[in-house]
Amino acid sequence: MTLAERARRVIPGGVNSGQRSIPGLTDLVITRTAGSRFWDGDGREFTDYHAAFGPPLLGHNDPDVAAAVADASGRLGLTGVAVTEGEVLLAEQLAELIPSIEQVLLTSTGSEATFHALRLARAVTGRRLVVKFQGCYHGWHDAVSLNVISAPDRVGRHDPTSTGILSEVLDATLVLRFNDPAALRQVFAEHGRDIAAVIVEPVPHNVGALLPTEEFLRALREECTAAGSVLVFDEVITGFRHALGGYQAISGVTPDLTTLGKAIANGAPIGALGGRADLMQYFSSRPGGPVFFAGTYNGHPLPVAAALATVRKLREQPVHEHVFRLGDRVRGELTALYERMGVPAVVTGYGSVFVSYFMPGPAPLSYDDLLANDTALFVGYRRHLVEHGIFELPLNLKRSHLSYAHTDADVDRLLEATEAAVRRTL
Ligand code: PLP
Repeated sequence: MTLAERARRVIPGGVNSGQRSIPGLTDLVITRTAGSRFWDGDGREFTDYHAAFGPPLLGHNDPDVAAAVADASGRLGLTGVAVTEGEVLLAEQLAELIPSIEQVLLTSTGSEATFHALRLARAVTGRRLVVKFQGCYHGWHDAVSLNVISAPDRVGRHDPTSTGILSEVLDATLVLRFNDPAALRQVFAEHGRDIAAVIVEPVPHNVGALLPTEEFLRALREECTAAGSVLVFDEVITGFRHALGGYQAISGVTPDLTTLGKAIANGAPIGALGGRADLMQYFSSRPGGPVFFAGTYNGHPLPVAAALATVRKLREQPVHEHVFRLGDRVRGELTALYERMGVPAVVTGYGSVFVSYFMPGPAPLSYDDLLANDTALFVGYRRHLVEHGIFELPLNLKRSHLSYAHTDADVDRLLEATEAAVRRTL
């Protein structure tokens, strides 16, 4: 029996997270990673553009991060008492770097961070409703686990990603169209006094890349401020990947709370929730509070060491310069490639993130626009790429990532293989 078959006997579906089981690739077993590569049990090598949905911005097993983790693991275990120096140093760095963050708490995952952001917003405002946007993903918990990649007939109504969620919980989440300030203003006009929080990926990367208009981000800020609602930027993907200050530093729009994860520790399990001190204070002993916050592994020395080493490297080395240059190159050359081939496509993304939608332009603004994407081509060419050792996740609307470990030679191969893969799929 193969390892994958043994996995399916003892692990439901054979994997430990949704979307790790990929049609046509159910026998894949990962055995090793290094830099821009991973290998499977049969010794096949893959250049990794999936990048675990985003964490390894420096590349896999970055030597500086690995050394910091090894040092911490030989020196400091988990006591579950008080605080460690690493936690203080990391909180100081996040507060210095990210415009909205005055105080910050650590979690083990991004989902925990968004969960606590919404609970805090409800506690502070005494209100019930949360606003999210079609196409954004904020984790697995009930309040936000709906309307990510929806079938066309589910757009515009509740589309939970799971059974088992209470309908009254779903009813407390309003789903709007991204980049639609008029719809936002209308919902605030009707429900503003009941809206505890608006949660948004400033760049919705869970459906590839929808770039926000300035007008939309400004409208989010204005409406939340006017109504006394808490604006949460979910920067679990964008934080550190697009800039050390997150997308908020790029856009100039500052939320009340920010959630982080993924790239901040280059793959070690960590999340963070930070923001205005007057809000974050509710987690300690604010009158009317406190808001309960706990977790055995919060502030664990190993991910904290990984995060500190990641921040240091991002500050000291031209990581963003490298991945932005490669990203621009990939987007530019893929655009030219599809034009030459006469394939209608929009290549978009930001910095290290890229995606090719197979549909006529212009660049999509909302999930509705993505319904024109040719799903068969999107998934099909990626299946061919995987066969040729280039791993772009063969699932509809998924983005790809570049890291500090990817090289121009990797990109040369990617471009060549993409042309062949698209031709074979057409
Ligand atoms: N927020 C965003 C924007 C995400 O992309 C994700 C995960 O993909 C999460 C939150 C949840 O993070 P985690 O999977 O670490 O719980």
